[in-house]
Amino acid sequence: MAQIVIAGGGIMGSCIAYYLALAGAASAVTVLEPDPAYEFAATPRAVGAIRLQHGLRENVEMSIYGDQVYSAFAEHVRGGKIEFDPQFRRCGYMYQVHGTEGIAALEANVRMQREVGVEVQLLDADELRRRYPSFRFVGVDCAALSLADGQIDPYAALMGFRRAAEGLGVTYIQDRLVALDLSGTLVTDAYLASGLSLPVDTLVNAANCWASEICAMVGMSVPIEPMRRQQFYFLTQQRIEPIPAMRRMDGPGVRMHQDGYLSGFTNHQQPSGLNWDLELEMFETVLWPQLADQCDAFEAIKLKGGWVGHYDMNRLDNNPIIDRFDKVSNFILAAGFSGHGLMHAPAVGRAVKELILDGGFRSIDLSRLSWRRVMDGHALRVTD
Ligand SMILES: Cc1cc2nc3c(=O)[nH]c(=O)nc-3n(C[C@H](O)[C@H](O)[C@H](O)COP(=O)(O)OP(=O)(O)OC[C@H]3O[C@@H](n4cnc5c(N)ncnc54)[C@H](O)[C@@H]3O)c2cc1C
Repeated sequence: MAQIVIAGGGIMGSCIAYYLALAGAASAVTVLEPDPAYEFAATPRAVGAIRLQHGLRENVEMSIYGDQVYSAFAEHVRGGKIEFDPQFRRCGYMYQVHGTEGIAALEANVRMQREVGVEVQLLDADELRRRYPSFRFVGVDCAALSLADGQIDPYAALMGFRRAAEGLGVTYIQDRLVALDLSGTLVTDAYLASGLSLPVDTLVNAANCWASEICAMVGMSVPIEPMRRQQFYFLTQQRIEPIPAMRRMDGPGVRMHQDGYLSGFTNHQQPSGLNWDLELEMFETVLWPQLADQCDAFEAIKLKGGWVGHYDMNRLDNNPIIDRFDKVSNFILAAGFSGHGLMHAPAVGRAVKELILDGGFRSIDLSRLSWRRVMDGHALRVTD
């Protein structure tokens, strides 16, 4: 059987492997993953949001499928000797905007989301204060609230897919892809850090923040760069009403997490690249005052810690590239998820399986997430 080699065994590589295995191709699939502990991988560092609200239809459609899979994981993900429960629960999500342009963009997004089947309510500031009396909603004119948005344990989801893929017969090799051999327009062999080499019929690049390095091996230059995301976890003295994950157009978001709250920060001005520093001082001087402006209970808090991870930012338009490389037709890229990869992984796994085994996308048309748009410099509408 033709050999399918997947570089990267995070949630993306493992979902791709799993859907190939479900379709009967397990014995042809090898996943290369250098780190079985996933210390620096994005997946275990994700917050775990399964968000249905996006600005791009494809992202909404992929999230809906992610929701279906994660909310009934045991039905969808089978085959592992050890089964994992990603503990899906619905927590809701609210996006807050201000100004005429902000409201118009939000309303357009909500129309599209409703067409695709997401239940979203539009609420004005008075209604927001009635429902969430602990919050001031200063500078907020309107918000979109979808109550069904979910939350999972990202590590359990990753291990669930990985163990199921392995259980169905996929081989994981603890090794790093370091070079590729080409003959004409095809990859023929993969070379690994250990010195091993593997024959290749299809090479899938699912290496997230490291995807650009692998693209370079076949002469593909992609605008995907690691971008640091910091997460801060804090407790409050005062208890307030349950809240959905709240996101603002112009300030920090906040969500319930364990016994407290989580707030995240991405500095879009920072240089790209891996940077593992957690800036506690920045939390104290920048984020905390802004959170306290939103809600009195966030005045008296105890910072419990935080962590750093990296988005595989697609600098063109913050949306993934899921496509074959036109110059090397058996090289498939699935990266550039820009902070949304966990929720989209089941849909991407199924889509890449369709590209390889069925000759093209069958379930969700992801053709706009093409490599061609990158070559042509045609950004899709930027989503947050
Ligand atoms: C702080 C933070 C919060 C996030 N929150 C969310 C969220 O709430 N919801 C959501 O949907 N998404 C979220 N994301 C995004 C999400 O985590 C990622 O999009 C997703 O995990 C990407 O999965 P992946 O498998 O592509 O990447 P990874 O999990 O990073 O896996 C890539 C793997 O490739 C391996 N690799 C690297 N180089 C090579 C090589 N040369 N050969 C072989 N293997 C290689 C690495 O070891 C790594 O394990 C968040 C990300 C961060 C950083």
